[in-house]
Amino acid sequence: MPDDGPWEGAAGRLSGLGVSQGRAAGPMIRLADPPELPAPRPVADPGAEAATVAKALEAVAAELNRRALAAGGEAAEILEALAMIAEDPMLLEEAERLTGDGHDAAHALDAAFAKHREALAALGGYLGERAADLDDLRHRAIAAALGLPMPGLPSPGHPYVLVATDLSPADTAGLGPDVLALVTEHGGPTSHTAILARGRGLPAVVACGGVMDLADGTVIGVDGGTGEVAIGLTESETAEVGQAEDARRARLRTSRGPGRTADGHPVRLLLNIGSAADLERDAAQADAEGVGLFRTEFLFLDRKQAPSFEEQVAAYADVFSGTEQVVVRTLDAGTDKPLPFLGLPQEQNPALGVRGLRVDRLLPGVLDTQLDAIAEAARRTGAEPWVMAPMVTTVGEASDFARRARARGIGRVGVMVEVPAAALRAGRMLQEVDFLSIGTNDLAQYTFAADRQHSALADLLDPRQPALLELIALCAEAGRRAGKPVGVCGEAAGDPLLAPLLVGLGVTSLSMAPVCVPAVREALAGLTLDECRERAQAALD
Ligand code: PEP
Ligand code: MG
Repeated sequence: MPDDGPWEGAAGRLSGLGVSQGRAAGPMIRLADPPELPAPRPVADPGAEAATVAKALEAVAAELNRRALAAGGEAAEILEALAMIAEDPMLLEEAERLTGDGHDAAHALDAAFAKHREALAALGGYLGERAADLDDLRHRAIAAALGLPMPGLPSPGHPYVLVATDLSPADTAGLGPDVLALVTEHGGPTSHTAILARGRGLPAVVACGGVMDLADGTVIGVDGGTGEVAIGLTESETAEVGQAEDARRARLRTSRGPGRTADGHPVRLLLNIGSAADLERDAAQADAEGVGLFRTEFLFLDRKQAPSFEEQVAAYADVFSGTEQVVVRTLDAGTDKPLPFLGLPQEQNPALGVRGLRVDRLLPGVLDTQLDAIAEAARRTGAEPWVMAPMVTTVGEASDFARRARARGIGRVGVMVEVPAAALRAGRMLQEVDFLSIGTNDLAQYTFAADRQHSALADLLDPRQPALLELIALCAEAGRRAGKPVGVCGEAAGDPLLAPLLVGLGVTSLSMAPVCVPAVREALAGLTLDECRERAQAALD
């Protein structure tokens, strides 16, 4: 698949959104659909139905444990936790009881899972959201009871391109090394699938209409940059894609040094992390210049009790001692990242509700304690972290935040630009703070009034949308005038096709998942600043 004529031999093409760079080709396999529940059948032997129920749940747990073993690491923990749910004695008891009431095994399982799901959903918050995981287990258990192949990841014994309507948490966590690339019919550029694929370095295309209509075994080529999916590649084309991709990866592994355009214009390449562990695991390979987004809420997602001051100091100090420069973001709670310990009230419209900095309106002590803890961790480690707030909307909010942070001795204070109102007032914001960091994930969501998780709106969430680029340009220009840095830390920053364009718009740093750094570094090194500007202008036009 040469660069000047990719997919030449293809019999047809589909297109979606490329969300994770790289190319791959191979036979595709669709993720099996959840089983259809047949009409209930009369039960002659409840004991036999109860035995089928028990065997089905055992088979589900065994399959998940088997995959956990193969996956290792964090994925193994997720899969083992799911297996434990399948082994929950209360679930088995309820399903067995239902067989005693005359339900066949499949319907007994269906009803028992429904009851479990309801109980979990009623708890609300993070646990409520986990109710969706149960659906995946339900489908597996019913398939096992009906003697059908279990839905979920195939294990064909050879490398393949995984095609799915969407991917469940269990499936995404369990992707094995035999998966060459992902193509999904749903999903947006900042969706779970996209972020996961990028983290794994797997080429991925989302929002690819029609892909589920292709037959299993069809050889397809996937371009995770352009979003193109070519149907029916020849054997030699497939081999060529593999070789080119291997060469690209080998080249990227040797990539080192600061970000520069071909004519030497510096662009700081930084990392998005959620903990010191992320830094330890990935930083050396990325060879970035520091951390551009430390998502502190990731430390406390599962917590029912507020983390103490000392606990926070320790967690922040861990990160500060691992790298020279860190931009800490204060807690961004709410909407897709609920923090149960805050006990925030349920809202009709959480993305437009009390999230990010707005939590301070209801619970002012939380931000003050966090700023105290950041300042203390800085003192203990001798670090000079930059600190920024998420979801800032008005200049008044920016100035209040800056005042409180500076009162604690924090030297560099900034705000995230995630709301169009903040972008429109970028110049004024920069009179109050030292830097801006543009969160393109949320800025797209709020600019286009499109839920960032919504697959049907993925085209609106594409960061190439001129309206979004204009807002970014506005911020960058405000930064240039003020002589202050303006970076991007949303997923767009880690996309090697978009990165030059963002630099052309005038942003001074790009912060991204560690795995994205080498490809972005390479993309910038291949273009002069003027060429980046031409790309930016073309996109704006
Ligand atoms: C963003 O919105 O672009 C961002 C970086 O923040 P998060 O994805 O954590 O909301
Ligand atoms: Mg955000």
